[in-house]
Amino acid sequence: MTCSSGNELPAINRARLMADLETLATFTEPGTPGTTRRFPSAAYMSGRAWLRERMEAAGLRTSIDAGGNLFAMLPGEHELPPLVAGSHTDSVMGGGRYDGALGVLGALEVARCLAGSGIRLHHPLLVADFLAEEANDFGVSCVGSRSLAYGLAPEWLDRSIAGQTLGQALAAMGGNPAGVTAPLLAPGAFAACLELHIEQGPVLEAAGATLGAVSGIVGIRRGTFILSGRPDHAGTAPMALRHDALTAAAELILAVERCARAEPGAVGTVGRLALRPNQSNVVPGEVTLTAEIRHLEPAAIALVWNYVLEAAEAACAERGVTLQLDAHTDAEPAAPPAWLLELVYSVCHGLDPRALVLPSGAGHDTGHLAHLAPAAMIFVPSMGGRSHCPEEYTAPEHLCTGVEALMRAIIAVDRRLA
Ligand SMILES: [Zn+2]
Repeated sequence: MTCSSGNELPAINRARLMADLETLATFTEPGTPGTTRRFPSAAYMSGRAWLRERMEAAGLRTSIDAGGNLFAMLPGEHELPPLVAGSHTDSVMGGGRYDGALGVLGALEVARCLAGSGIRLHHPLLVADFLAEEANDFGVSCVGSRSLAYGLAPEWLDRSIAGQTLGQALAAMGGNPAGVTAPLLAPGAFAACLELHIEQGPVLEAAGATLGAVSGIVGIRRGTFILSGRPDHAGTAPMALRHDALTAAAELILAVERCARAEPGAVGTVGRLALRPNQSNVVPGEVTLTAEIRHLEPAAIALVWNYVLEAAEAACAERGVTLQLDAHTDAEPAAPPAWLLELVYSVCHGLDPRALVLPSGAGHDTGHLAHLAPAAMIFVPSMGGRSHCPEEYTAPEHLCTGVEALMRAIIAVDRRLA
């Protein structure tokens, strides 16, 4: 079974693509809902070992770099920087089967189709599985693509979860923590980067479109705040004398909502919170929470963030609670250069006249890769806009159309840059 394609182009093998997606979905952490392959779980490692076998079975040469990124190379006709197509195979807890997986297995399918056809690219094509894209307990998302573009701060590598540091987890996935404290690559090391991904939102489905060219990826500022007050007896401590860390945290959370609502295009979330001692008859003594702000403009992120900080500082000062900002990371907003967005949109429009140009509210590896090379994304619809949940679904024909668009975009970029 194959999808339709242009005259001289090889046909995407839909049955092979779907079988690969289904097999990868079987690698999941036991006893968890949906698909769960978190960094650095055994399920994630064995899924990657299977993927590496699939890459090698396709005749591609594989490698893992110091950042733990898994690459498979389809040689080109010339000694040129490679084109990169890929995404990630880790997931959130209770995620779906297409987030990330489509971009990796779709790129592998394109490499297989090209290898079996008469088409030879000028550039080598690297199929990539970037390490640990999703947010994790170490507080560092996009571990692999950040390593490539920026390197990782040594203090991040020392962060420890359940007795294992981020550096040890990276080593367990085949990376080399000593090698990633500086950027692995310099701008220009890749000719261009393309990532196929599910939209994870409702826009394409609502418009009846099967493809989208991504105009930009939001930047994300995320920080862990520690609010330290004083645990006291909930019956005997008078209201005026309390140092309640949780009421101060409540004001911070509401400030995130209020300030993000006030800035068009911004979103803000407190998605994680822990309090101590967490007992019904004790005034909360300490709260640790993670807040994030997203926007397409760095200046808007800074503006909202500073308003939130001001409001939080005032709420803490009023209660004699200290506020400490820990583990703060920034992902810069990114956009493809105009020529590349135009090229990707024209490919999408050629396959579906209703194709859209739309921004991404989710962060992606491409956001970091944009520091190294012209980088663009192609979206396919997510049913009901659902993602990061077991219900995540995209119709097989839409998955296949996405891979077709990825192949056409790769060929067009290869010709344009040769
Ligand atoms: Zn993803």
